[in-house]
Amino acid sequence: MCATTYNVYKIREDFPILDRLVNGKRLVYLDNAATTHKPIQVIEKLREFYVKYNANIHRGIHRLSQEASDLYDSARVEVANLINAEPEEIIFVKNATEGVNLFAYGYGLWNLRPGDVVLNTLMDHHATIVPFHILSKKIGFRQYLIEITDDGYIDMGDLEDKLSLNPKIVTFPHVSNMLGTINDAKKLIKLAHRSGALTILDATQSVPHMKVDVKDLDVDVMVFSAHKMCGPTGVGVVYIKRDLYDYMEPFLGGGDMIRKVSYNEEYIPIVEYNSPPIKYEAGTPNIAGVSVYPESIKYLLRIGFDNIHRHIKNLVEELYEGMNNIKGIAIYGPDNLKDRAGLITFNVKGLSAHEVAAYLDSEGIAIRSGHHCTGPLHKRLGISSSARISFYIYNTFEEVEYVLDKLRLLS
Ligand code: PMP
Repeated sequence: MCATTYNVYKIREDFPILDRLVNGKRLVYLDNAATTHKPIQVIEKLREFYVKYNANIHRGIHRLSQEASDLYDSARVEVANLINAEPEEIIFVKNATEGVNLFAYGYGLWNLRPGDVVLNTLMDHHATIVPFHILSKKIGFRQYLIEITDDGYIDMGDLEDKLSLNPKIVTFPHVSNMLGTINDAKKLIKLAHRSGALTILDATQSVPHMKVDVKDLDVDVMVFSAHKMCGPTGVGVVYIKRDLYDYMEPFLGGGDMIRKVSYNEEYIPIVEYNSPPIKYEAGTPNIAGVSVYPESIKYLLRIGFDNIHRHIKNLVEELYEGMNNIKGIAIYGPDNLKDRAGLITFNVKGLSAHEVAAYLDSEGIAIRSGHHCTGPLHKRLGISSSARISFYIYNTFEEVEYVLDKLRLLS
């Protein structure tokens, strides 16, 4: 499929929810950075899993268990291929947030020391800031946020200054879920590595929209969630560079993640762990969700990430131009649209973000309002909340025009 043949109407036919009426109007779903809808192919696969394959995995020799295990294990290969990783570098968790926690506790708890430094940026999501905050209270390492520029980029001067503290870990979002900024991940990772830090890339808003290659980026840890890319809820991915496993302990303990549990003559338990990645997947995982996730990956690959990126960029350009011409609207994030992903966050003068979202909802339009789990960023911008329009593969130019018409009525 190339740009001129991107058939958004054909794509929409695969998403039954888009036919829904909301407040008597056809749903216009523009809250895709929060979660995306699922195509019928994924919904059917989920049904098929429960109808044909449902069983627990890695612990039964019966046929159903073998088949369910094969589905689960082959999902790991599909996800590894998507980001150019090795299958054993892929750990399934319940969401990106759990992925960060897994690494914070699995690595940080055992390797960070009092006085060490961990850096996040002011545009990080709470998912990458808060786990290290909690850990810093226990361990006594220092945690600082890297400044951003007024036009919505990571402040390279402040980054260099803070890297001179020789941080142990640096986190940053590949794409900001509030500003929409596409960060130059490769460059940032290189700089962090030069100062001896490990890097965690929050790819929650990038993997659904563009080709991301962990080997090319040379990133150490990367997290993302299936539900933001047409996949099921309850499935997150954490990529961990294989060598790092040598320095980690399990985050959660229980079934499946062990090879053997016994006890000694004093009745003290002896535990031998399974090899990674199973070592980090304790208990019954989201077998159905993980098993159907490849269906959503295949769906997106059939459209093509270049086409997805281009279509969404075109929608953003149209919306940005329209919003810029409406008096009383303040838009956050880069003006240079080449650095902006598929979302626009804004406020309307004289109205709260919730008032804007409630009004649009009454017209059938779903957008997000609030702080988008980016409290520090909102403080930096001097606002308490904002409204966000975010696109995905099924949004149309007609929807852009519709929302612009409604915004014009507000100003
Ligand atoms: N990071 C970013 C940039 C996000 O946009 C989100 C979701 N809002 C998350 C992390 C957390 O994702 P999840 O809720 O799926 O764990």
